[in-house]
Amino acid sequence: MASATSVSPEVLAKYEPVIGLEVHVQLLTATKAFCGCANKFGGEPNTHICPVCLGLPGALPVLNERAAEFAALAAMAIHCQVRERSVFARKNYFYPDLPKGYQISQFDKPLAEHGWIEIPGAEGMPARRIGITRLHMEEDAGKSMHDGFAESATKTYVDLNRCGTPLIEIVSEPDLRTPEEAFEYLTRLKEILLYTGVSDCNMEEGSLRCDANVSVRPRGQEKFGTKAEVKNVNSFRFIRAALEYEIERQVELIEGGGRVMQETRLWNAAEGRTYGMRSKEQAHDYRYFPEPDLPALILSDELRSSIAARMPELPEARRKRMIADYGISAQDAQTLTATREFADQFEVAAKQAKSPQRVANLIQSEMMGRLKAKGLGLEDSPVTLKGLVQAADLAESGQLSSKQIKGIFDIAFERSEDFGAVYEREKPRQISDPAAIEKLIDEVIAANPKQVEQYRGGKKTVDAFFIGQVMKLSKGQANPALLKELVTKKLEG
Ligand code: ADP
Ligand code: ZN
Ligand code: MG
Repeated sequence: MASATSVSPEVLAKYEPVIGLEVHVQLLTATKAFCGCANKFGGEPNTHICPVCLGLPGALPVLNERAAEFAALAAMAIHCQVRERSVFARKNYFYPDLPKGYQISQFDKPLAEHGWIEIPGAEGMPARRIGITRLHMEEDAGKSMHDGFAESATKTYVDLNRCGTPLIEIVSEPDLRTPEEAFEYLTRLKEILLYTGVSDCNMEEGSLRCDANVSVRPRGQEKFGTKAEVKNVNSFRFIRAALEYEIERQVELIEGGGRVMQETRLWNAAEGRTYGMRSKEQAHDYRYFPEPDLPALILSDELRSSIAARMPELPEARRKRMIADYGISAQDAQTLTATREFADQFEVAAKQAKSPQRVANLIQSEMMGRLKAKGLGLEDSPVTLKGLVQAADLAESGQLSSKQIKGIFDIAFERSEDFGAVYEREKPRQISDPAAIEKLIDEVIAANPKQVEQYRGGKKTVDAFFIGQVMKLSKGQANPALLKELVTKKLEG
């Protein structure tokens, strides 16, 4: 795992944290869950709306079939059993951004149940399966914008564009035991969802949101402690930090003779702490009942099989295959499969290039960071697949040192040019990197054992032969003085 949890060891020796996560994910359908409005982030406030998603009297919802298929695909990807018959239910509550007064969700007959996600074990420990209690479908609410967004903090504005956006909610079992495990779980879940293509999982835009439930219990005690639920956390790193804070807070409370209250708490990123918000409503407060305006959702065996047949190769399987196919390390495979785009890029380039390892190195050292810094997707990268393969081959043949390649990538990204274009123009006239020249010399030495024997037998003039061969191999670009010096050194050594 990336880093050990920063909850103090004394606390962890005495108490065991218990964590369960609820993740909401927006589905990438063209239209909303129950109407024909565009399912698009942003837009002028209150423009992607209609009587159905506003819940005006008499308007009737019709389920978006694509949303159901996406939800089922996501459920299968995390090993859930998908019900043949699931039931929509109304979850009743009042909030200004919920004009209907209820949210269409699923309650006692959710779309899918009993899944799991594998997370890597802590150092030296085996991988662990984290249980998924359920995956159900629901619709999103609108957005309220309060203080801070305008000069007067006295008003609240409501944008209903998000009303009716199709969501899946994925509820984990309370199986996670450290903030680090929660971080790993979320990382894996996001990866899997991205691979299935059902969501863009963009946390900044709210396409993926996570509520973290956490409690602590004395080690050895079987009964769970009282949990708090932390909301409003918009990055995985913050979720880890919020959990660390919460665990310390709860233990301190208990050690001081107090009791943890069941409540919802908000994470404040600026202060790095959580604040109590309100005591948690009990589930029955929502007065769930079956949605009278929608029939039960039936996914026949046939339909479920055809959805299952669309399942792409998932990250874990792909990592294993890539390690076997290309001889790259587990760490490389991990990084390269973080998104499907990079994994695809790697595999196509690795098949064309002389050395898959070079391709793996270049994507990780020269592409990923630069693209991220520029906020570019792989499809917008100035260095194309062809450029990547070219760079890898030039590295493999020793014609360019890693430093020279870095320099070319710098220019390529600065000026939005492909690797090849920059290389042709800026082609180093002379190879003066000792490591690159030594690599060429090694090749020539390996290919000409007889001449090496002659040289080492006393015929020193044979060095001219080696110098000539290396010069040829370097296309005349090796620095001659350096070449002579290094040839002598190599032959003597
Ligand atoms: P609620 O009724 O408050 O919504 P649920 O039982 O539905 O609670 O669980 C919601 C989430 O909280 C799940 O992810 C579950 O794993 C987690 N959870 C339940 N009990 C605990 C606990 N004692 N400590 C930590 N997490 C818990
Ligand atoms: Zn609508
Ligand atoms: Mg619940």
